[in-house]
Amino acid sequence: MIELSAVTRSYAMGGSEVRALAGVDLGVGAGEFVAITGPSGSGKSSLLNLLGCLDRPSSGHYRLDGEAVATLDDERVSDLRSRKIGFVFQSFFLLPRLTVLENVLLPLRYARTADPGAPGRARALLERVGLSDRLEHRPGELSGGQQQRAAIARALIRQPRLLLTDEPTGNLDSKSTADVLRLFEELHDEGQTIVLVTHDAEVAARAPRHVRLRDGRIEGDD
Ligand code: ADP
Ligand code: MG
Repeated sequence: MIELSAVTRSYAMGGSEVRALAGVDLGVGAGEFVAITGPSGSGKSSLLNLLGCLDRPSSGHYRLDGEAVATLDDERVSDLRSRKIGFVFQSFFLLPRLTVLENVLLPLRYARTADPGAPGRARALLERVGLSDRLEHRPGELSGGQQQRAAIARALIRQPRLLLTDEPTGNLDSKSTADVLRLFEELHDEGQTIVLVTHDAEVAARAPRHVRLRDGRIEGDD
């Protein structure tokens, strides 16, 4: 599903250069659930942004689901991203004026082709994440955990091959954290490929595979 080879990412900072990723080789197979951890500044978000095609490597190669991302122009990359990748972030990024159901359907607005099955899928997904009685609520009327579960439903509405998530439990209390992690485990059991970034070792321990980053390199993978 994911093949990274010798990937680097440097940021120009004034006159100098910050090397956020210093040569990463990583393969993730379809259906895997992988946690990526590392200290602050180790390159976790940089790596996730590359995996999500929100950014491009400075050097090295990335193949996603067989496609060499570097050879695609910006338009094809954004098309690939919207078809194949779902994102869940620490701050849920739900639109406050839309209902929960409308938020889950929002990614369809960026789709190129009609998707008549989407409303039915949205309802099924919201039931799946335990929010079937909240379809017409606004995000502000939900708890943090409920908002994150709505954000997960939104990430899944286009049936992405890959679900990427950066500190998904960072803003949640322990009960909501447990709910969200159980949901990721269930999605993994159903075959969803998931890459989860966290600085929290307890969260990472829930994933079958754990990749540790340090100073922009992989220092452990087990
Ligand atoms: P993490 O998510 O593990 O905390 P990041 O990937 O955010 O790490 O950052 C890795 C390194 O790259 C850090 O030294 C950070 O300061 C730097 N960095 C990240 N994004 C940028 C950017 N847009 N511009 C300059 N430096 C950046
Ligand atoms: Mg980060």
